Amino acid sequence: MSKDVFRSPKYAKAVANEIRRLSEGKTVRIVHVCGTHEDTISSHGLRSLLPEEVTLVAGPGCPVCVCAAQDVDMAIELAKQGHIITTFGDMIRVPSTSSSIVKERANGADVRIVYGIGDAVEIARKNPEKDVVFIGAGFETTAPTMAVEIVRGPPSNFSILTSLKVIPPAMEILVGLEGFAVDGFITPGHVSAIVGTNAFSSLAETHGVPCVAAGFEPLDVLEATRMILLQMKEGRTESENEYTRVVKPEGNVAAQKILEKAFKVDDAPWRGLGVIPDSGLFIRDEFSAHDARKRYDFPPMESVDILPGCRCHEVILGMIDPTECTLFGKRCTVEDPYGPCMVGHEGTCRIRHESGGL
Ligand code: SF4
Repeated sequence: MSKDVFRSPKYAKAVANEIRRLSEGKTVRIVHVCGTHEDTISSHGLRSLLPEEVTLVAGPGCPVCVCAAQDVDMAIELAKQGHIITTFGDMIRVPSTSSSIVKERANGADVRIVYGIGDAVEIARKNPEKDVVFIGAGFETTAPTMAVEIVRGPPSNFSILTSLKVIPPAMEILVGLEGFAVDGFITPGHVSAIVGTNAFSSLAETHGVPCVAAGFEPLDVLEATRMILLQMKEGRTESENEYTRVVKPEGNVAAQKILEKAFKVDDAPWRGLGVIPDSGLFIRDEFSAHDARKRYDFPPMESVDILPGCRCHEVILGMIDPTECTLFGKRCTVEDPYGPCMVGHEGTCRIRHESGGL
C-alpha cells in the first residue's frame, strides 16, 4: 500500500469523525509510550483533529529520557578513566548529576559517536591497546543488535555499559500509579514488532485497559485511537494490532531468542520513575568479560535523576505538558538542554520545542 494512503487528509478526516462519534462526548485519555509516536502526533497536528475530550498523552517512550542518571554517571566515570567511549549521538548530551559525556569530551575524553554497535566493535578491533566501551541505552528494539554482538564474541578489549529497558513492566507500573489516569494505551510499533501484541495481553485484561499496537504514519495513530474507543464502547479490553504490516501477535521469535541468550531480566532504575521490577536487560554472567558494569570499578555515586527545577519526571509520566515547565525554551533548549527530555529526537520536551511549543 502506498505511504500516501496513510497520510490522506480525506481518510484522516473520516477516522477523526468516527473517533468523535465513538467518544460520545466522554473524556478519554489515551497514553502512548513511544517518542516516534509523539513525533508523528506533533508534526502532523493530530491533536487538532480530535474532539476536545479525547487527549493523546506522551508517556515514558524515550530511551535517553528514562536512562537513569546513575548509568550516565557510570559512563562519565569510564570516560574519565581514559577508555574510548562509543555511543549514539543523543546519548552524549544527556545531562547527569554534574556533567555529561559531551562535557567530558570537551575536557579531553575520547568519545566517539557511532551509528550502531558494529561501528563500536570495529573501533575496538582497530585500537587493541585501548579499552572500548559502548554505552547501550534503549528498549527491546535496539537490544537485539547488542545481543548479537555479545553472543558472537567481540574483541577482548570491548565491553558494553547497558541501560536497556523493557516496556511492558513499565506500563504495568503506570496503570497502578496514583494520579495516573489512562483509558487506553497505544503500544509502541517498533517494540511490538519484537515482543508481539501478546506481550500486552495480560496488561489489557488484568487492568482493563485496551491496548493497540500502532505504526508511525498519521493514519496509523488515528486508527489505533479509533480502535481503542471501539473497544471501550464494546466493553472489551484486549491487546489489538493496528500495525499488521509489521507486527505479529507472537512478535519476532528469533530476536526474542537472542535476547534471552545474551541478557537476563532484572529490576532497573528509570529516570523519574524509580526502580521498576523486571524492567531491565542485563548481560548474563557467562558474558561478564564484556559487561562494563562488572569489568570496571566505580566509586560510590550520589546520582541525581532530576535536577532542581526540571520537571522531566512529570513529563515522562504525561502529567504535565512540557510548556508547563518554567525552564522550557528559556534555561532549557534543544541547543543547551537542562533536562533529558530536551535531548533526544524522541524526547517530549524536544519534540514540543521543535514544533514551536504546540
Ligand atoms: Fe526538564 Fe527541560 Fe523539559 Fe523542563 S523543559 S521538564 S527542564 S527537559
